[in-house]
Amino acid sequence: MKFKNIINDLKKYFLIEIFKGLFLTFKYLFKKKVTINYPYEKGKLSPRFRGEHALRRYPNGEERCIACKLCEAICPAQAIKIEAEPREDGSRRTTRYDIDMTKCIYCGFCAEACPVDAIVEGPNFEFATETREELFYDKEKLLANGDRWEEQIALAQKIDSPYK
Ligand code: SF4
Ligand code: SF4
Repeated sequence: MKFKNIINDLKKYFLIEIFKGLFLTFKYLFKKKVTINYPYEKGKLSPRFRGEHALRRYPNGEERCIACKLCEAICPAQAIKIEAEPREDGSRRTTRYDIDMTKCIYCGFCAEACPVDAIVEGPNFEFATETREELFYDKEKLLANGDRWEEQIALAQKIDSPYK
């Protein structure tokens, strides 16, 4: 016990811990940096990243969603509300598509259930708001997200397609 105390005293006396710390600092000073200067730099995202929701369109501008309501049925948080009616041409489309993002747990089940890849969780993770109301997304907002992120969403789906 006495010997251990002497060693500890010597360590304190010769500032061993401080030198060990400084050594570590110098060791990493010239190594490749692992930190990034967010928000000016952003890290790489996985194609399976589950971010902000978006409703996609086909290249001709037509909505993909066929109002089957599978996403609404599977959502464990009951965050999705859909209303639908047939159009004049007989096709079935939503008249209301809301997601309460304050309820969503980002499980991705809605995207998995969708037979036409209409609802997806896109790459956007910067959608914090100042009020709860801004997180009640409607169809217009979701379609706008789809238009904004389509390129990245399509690329992520293409990369991930061999594993589905
Ligand atoms: S990600 Fe999950 S919780 Fe969120 S809307 Fe889709 S199914 Fe519901
Ligand atoms: S988003 Fe997909 S799963 Fe949901 S109602 Fe539309 S087609 Fe069906």
